[in-house]
Amino acid sequence: MTIIAANLKEVRNRIAAAAARSGRDPAAIRLVAVSKTAPAEAVREAFEAGQTAFGENYAQEMAAKAAALSDLPIEWHFIGHLQKNKAKVVAPIAAWVESVDSIELAEAMGRRATKTIPCLIEVNVGGEASKSGVAPEGVAGLARGIMALPRLSLEGLMVIPPFDPDPEQSKPYFRKLRAMLDALNEELNPERPLHVLSMGMSHDFEVAIEEGATIVRIGTAIFGPRP
Ligand SMILES: *Cc1c(COP(=O)(O)O)cnc(C)c1O
Repeated sequence: MTIIAANLKEVRNRIAAAAARSGRDPAAIRLVAVSKTAPAEAVREAFEAGQTAFGENYAQEMAAKAAALSDLPIEWHFIGHLQKNKAKVVAPIAAWVESVDSIELAEAMGRRATKTIPCLIEVNVGGEASKSGVAPEGVAGLARGIMALPRLSLEGLMVIPPFDPDPEQSKPYFRKLRAMLDALNEELNPERPLHVLSMGMSHDFEVAIEEGATIVRIGTAIFGPRP
């Protein structure tokens, strides 16, 4: 077994254990393997070990890997900050866009989409000046705007909490995101309730699962440390 295959197996076991501890069905938690900075060959190795969803932060890097791996039915998740002029690069490739943070970006994505793209609003729950994501007060307005667009399907929310090596420190941010999703469903009462919470990375995904994550985005624990 390759190192990547062994890492994947370990991460899947930990996801299953965290789900079991919190009385959740492990099948309700999607693993997105974050492959930023990893070479296309590492992605291929992970795919061969059964991983189909991959996350990328940079438009050009995702496009290059998607081209190099076009023989594989990979589900690409765009998870990085995106300038709206890059929507034309991302929209044709991404199966999901997890980092929508403005109506301008959503509109640009919709214009370039060739099919309906499921998307998430990235929320700057911690209010950090250095982070992308929309402020909590702006979420409902942006959600309404996205729901009115053709070819984008709003599915839920995403968060990157302020980094702290102690995973317990992420917990309040995960709780807040979940509360925000519930509040949005009450306020907007959409035909199909928003149900996706993308939260949890290598150091805190178990806590995120305990708090209701339905997507975890894991890079280092699968591909090793980044340069
Ligand atoms: C890099 C990145 C991840 C993965 O982080 P790890 O700590 O390597 O697991 C997850 N989400 C986003 C948005 C990222 O940029």
